[in-house]
Amino acid sequence: MSTQHLNIPPENHVKVLDGQGWVGLIDHLGSETTIVNAARVSFGKIKNTMDERDVTLLKYLIENHHTSPLEHLVFTFSIHCPLFIRGQWHRHRTWSYNEISRRYTEIDLEFYTPGKLRKQAETNRQASVDSPDFEDASYREMIRKHNEESLALYNRLLDAGVCREQARGVLPQNMMVTFWGTVDLNNLLHFLFLRDSEHAQWEIRQYAKAIKQLIRPIIPHVAEYYGDKW
Ligand SMILES: Cc1cc2nc3c(=O)[nH]c(=O)nc-3n(C[C@H](O)[C@H](O)[C@H](O)COP(=O)(O)OP(=O)(O)OC[C@H]3O[C@@H](n4cnc5c(N)ncnc54)[C@H](O)[C@@H]3O)c2cc1C
Repeated sequence: MSTQHLNIPPENHVKVLDGQGWVGLIDHLGSETTIVNAARVSFGKIKNTMDERDVTLLKYLIENHHTSPLEHLVFTFSIHCPLFIRGQWHRHRTWSYNEISRRYTEIDLEFYTPGKLRKQAETNRQASVDSPDFEDASYREMIRKHNEESLALYNRLLDAGVCREQARGVLPQNMMVTFWGTVDLNNLLHFLFLRDSEHAQWEIRQYAKAIKQLIRPIIPHVAEYYGDKW
């Protein structure tokens, strides 16, 4: 039996944030056929393949918010993202999560350095704006250095015998974390609606787009229903 470190992306993954983060599909249960079968349970009928009528039914279910059949299709993802994105992600309570613990391990610490800094939006306190002429190289270097210095302090505390659970408090929000998240299709579509939106932070939006790419082959007609929003 072999073991693999959680920070190594699974075979089926999409890189995001200039390759510093990724999201991988670990497993899934069910297919689009499962959804239409679940909808037909009411009539006591089950099929093994999808035909045109099933595709019409599938789109009808989404269109009319008949969502419970969508809950029979379940996905498990492995996500490698900055701590500040994990904070936003874990607000989605309908997912189940398990995460690498910094109480157990101090190895493989990684930090995110943005490839491009955006400016604060003036009209919306939650938003940012792209500024192509923003000379950000020196600020990105400061962030990289700050990450490095935080790690040095963390290691110094550990060397002095401070416990991991307290020493981790000096690690910045840019620290990369890895977690598993399991969710059914209905709640995943809700997540994708909220997080692949121009209202969402650019970084989490990249993860939402990557998830769309990963699951498209499993739910081609659902993706087709959403058209250019997918
Ligand atoms: C652009 C954006 C900005 C945001 N800004 C902020 C912010 O400034 N501050 C902040 O605190 N949060 C913020 N959030 C988080 C937001 O308030 C939600 O917590 C997050 O989007 C999860 O959404 P949700 O509750 O619908 O999802 P889930 O937790 O996955 O729930 C899915 C659905 O299940 C139902 N549900 C789940 N739990 C309950 C419950 N306990 N009671 C009743 N129904 C439930 C609801 O219908 C819910 O829509 C922001 C989110 C976005 C997308």
